[in-house]
Amino acid sequence: MSKPRSGAPPAPSVPPAATTPSDRVGRPLVLRGIAGSPGVAIAPCVIVGPQRSAFTRRHIKSHEVDDELARFADAVDRARESLRVVSERVREGKAGAETAILDAYAAMLGDETIADSVERHVRIDRQNVEWAVSRTIEDMAGRLADASDPYLMERQHDVTFVGERLQRALAGTSDDAALPHLDRPTIVLAHDLSPADTAAMVKEPVVGFVTEVGTRTSHTAIMARALEIPAVVGVDDVLSVAAPGETIIIDGFRGEVVIGPTPAMLADAEARALRHAAFARQLRGDKHRQAKTADGTVVHMLANVELPAEALLAIDHGAEGIGLYRTEFLYVDRTDPPNEEEQFQLYRAVLEACAPRPVTLRTFDIGGDKFVSTFQLPDEMNPALGLRAVRLALSRPDVFLEQLRAMVRASVFGTLRIMIPMVSSLRELAEVRELFHQALREIDDRGLPRADDIPLGVMIEVPSAAIMADAFAREAAFMSLGTNDLVQYALAIDRTNRALASLASPFDPSVLRLIAMVVAAATKRDRPLSVCGAMASDPLPALLLVGMGLRDLSMEAAAIPEVKEALRRVKLAELEAVARAALLEESAEGVQRVVTDALGAKLHDLIAHDS
Ligand code: PEP
Ligand code: MG
Repeated sequence: MSKPRSGAPPAPSVPPAATTPSDRVGRPLVLRGIAGSPGVAIAPCVIVGPQRSAFTRRHIKSHEVDDELARFADAVDRARESLRVVSERVREGKAGAETAILDAYAAMLGDETIADSVERHVRIDRQNVEWAVSRTIEDMAGRLADASDPYLMERQHDVTFVGERLQRALAGTSDDAALPHLDRPTIVLAHDLSPADTAAMVKEPVVGFVTEVGTRTSHTAIMARALEIPAVVGVDDVLSVAAPGETIIIDGFRGEVVIGPTPAMLADAEARALRHAAFARQLRGDKHRQAKTADGTVVHMLANVELPAEALLAIDHGAEGIGLYRTEFLYVDRTDPPNEEEQFQLYRAVLEACAPRPVTLRTFDIGGDKFVSTFQLPDEMNPALGLRAVRLALSRPDVFLEQLRAMVRASVFGTLRIMIPMVSSLRELAEVRELFHQALREIDDRGLPRADDIPLGVMIEVPSAAIMADAFAREAAFMSLGTNDLVQYALAIDRTNRALASLASPFDPSVLRLIAMVVAAATKRDRPLSVCGAMASDPLPALLLVGMGLRDLSMEAAAIPEVKEALRRVKLAELEAVARAALLEESAEGVQRVVTDALGAKLHDLIAHDS
């Protein structure tokens, strides 16, 4: 049975807390997490423990204040320098694009909010600088940890990482001290790994990563994909059930970790690891070949991107453009929204990197299960049904206009489309269009250049918009199906609820019928339509979408080679027949059976199977 590659992970197959290394002797343990980076690895594991620097808290005398602040400034410099060294090491390796994350950390080290808070604790509370840094970081991380959104919660690790870097610099500890020196292929298990820690392992024979925290957008996962090392993230409590040196299998396709595998499991994993390595080599060779079905129907492969650095990575994976740029990342970890100039520079860089390929910038989708930080959002009973995305943007026209102007200014540097998330009524689109025209006028009044035609499109991810697709096809320049939210809202299943994840199937017939309505509306009006939800990144559902008429699929970059390969193995007529049969089914299981029976054998090496 195929599993969604992203979104909420399935619950662990065995409750890990019930098992410890000693009472599990001789019995394999299979844990489920989130597929972070594709590939299969088998090796003994090493556990990289929490890397907290110890420090002393003490009250200082008034004459020590200046010295303490000088030590802080010096630590910032040294921490920056050590990041620069790691960044260079990565640049020499395979993960060049990821140095942007390290550069972002270097910038965070100089953040004024951190410096001001440290100075306050030193001057007013008379705390030594280690204590002041610790208080500052704890406060910032605590605010992020309170967020309900997993992405925002993850940013707390970035803040903690920066704090840890400062503490190491204050203590004069070497950066690599926390990482063991490895002399044979090893899988690293950690609660969390920062990008710099991951990068520092480039020189070590690390063949896989497993972390307890993290999601598909966590930096460890992004970095592992850039390094082409298999990774599984978000594996609850893995550190408490694995013993150092124990052999483990990690499957970065299935999001699975096997601790203490049986000989049969090892033989199976070895065969799959070899197949994947050969297959990856072949896919890499083909990555810039156009995606087509066996009978020549072209399907455009676009990438979903959250970080600027990923845009280059996406093109390198064969993306023909960016189908979804989630700009909300910009609003994370800060108290004030990014200003127009800052956003302009970033959008410009992304557009230039991808030009002439199209880039779809989505206006911020904040609220609900998404990040907050810069907005004072009300405490809502049902945030997913509350002040989220376009609703929030319309309630804060000042912030929204700033973003729209930045996008409009960037339009001369490539091929830009602007997309609005979570639109649920035509009225919202009309209100956005008014603000968009205002942004155009303001840029013209300043005498700045811009593209003549900037398509303004909508995401179709709320059932009301799918039902009204005919009208949206008339009013919007393009539409993109957000199947992650469409599934959530059509089935009333919280997308962050791990326990219900197996019920949230993109194969549900209600979801398929909504998609079919949108396809029909787009076809009738001849409007561009794409899919940018996770459904497009899994080979079986992606092929079903093509059978239903979709020709633009946007997915995480790492999935592109596989979906392309899946397409090459099938004919359009075959997919259309599967789609017709699937639409007659009345249950998710029925749809899944129809699709798997028709296509499963051809894609046996591309799809995940429940074991
Ligand atoms: C979606 O909902 O399918 C989507 C692509 O948007 P996001 O996952 O960012 O909500
Ligand atoms: Mg969405």
